Amino acid sequence: MRTRGLTKAFRGLVALKDHAIELREREIMGVIGPNGSGKSTFFNLITGFSKPNAGQIEFRGRSIIGLRTERIVSLGIARTFQGSRLFPSLTVEDNVLAAAQLRHPVGPLDSVLRTARYRTRVDKAEAIAERLLDLMGLTAQAGRLASQLPYGDQRRLEIARALATEPALLLLDEPAAGLDSNETTALVELIRKIRDLFGVTVVVVEHDMDLIMAVCERIQVLATGEVICVGTPEQVRNDPRVREAYLGH
Ligand code: ADP
Ligand code: MG
Repeated sequence: MRTRGLTKAFRGLVALKDHAIELREREIMGVIGPNGSGKSTFFNLITGFSKPNAGQIEFRGRSIIGLRTERIVSLGIARTFQGSRLFPSLTVEDNVLAAAQLRHPVGPLDSVLRTARYRTRVDKAEAIAERLLDLMGLTAQAGRLASQLPYGDQRRLEIARALATEPALLLLDEPAAGLDSNETTALVELIRKIRDLFGVTVVVVEHDMDLIMAVCERIQVLATGEVICVGTPEQVRNDPRVREAYLGH
């Protein structure tokens, strides 16, 4: 995935300005920046939740500007949200199945007629859901309502849902928000494991530096909508512009 000149303004406020990023396959890339620096806006633009005023977004060599979110998902980009977007009144398992079916849609006729295609797709979605719940340690919770899960489990369920669409690019928006330090440590392991198992490219957005420093191979730093530096965790940690963005203006 690659962006160039990506710009988004809300009325007078420029939320993202002339953004550029180029992801390598299978890397874990961090995007950090203080609150309001444009991180979620970046995800919203890539996933078609919002339209840029200018700039380009390419995914696997083709422009995805202007495509609808469902189309972008079917091309292989999945995200989680900063706040939870689970279906609270569905079970844990059905939350994941619903997501898996976005990638393997079953038409109404297929489901009424129970076509072979319907069976294959349902079987496939179920196999994916089972595997993901196992990976996330949620198998024992499969039949519970999503709203009844402890908070940390809900966050993992969100990641399971994103993975159920079989993405090549996984976007995580503040996955550590609200987690305690043990859960955050476990999340670092989980993100690596996801990359290794599924071969996905991962972008992690956080305002908290610790998780990012622990898990990411490269980091881009945003401040007030602009890229101020890109580098390894070590380079970013020692960059005076980053200290300034975080510690004062
Ligand atoms: P971050 O995720 O880095 O905290 P955001 O991308 O959510 O930041 O926001 C960047 C800036 O754009 C903020 O000043 C925010 O208030 C503004 N913004 C984001 N979304 C909207 C919107 N839908 N309408 C108006 N302003 C917005
Ligand atoms: Mg945000």
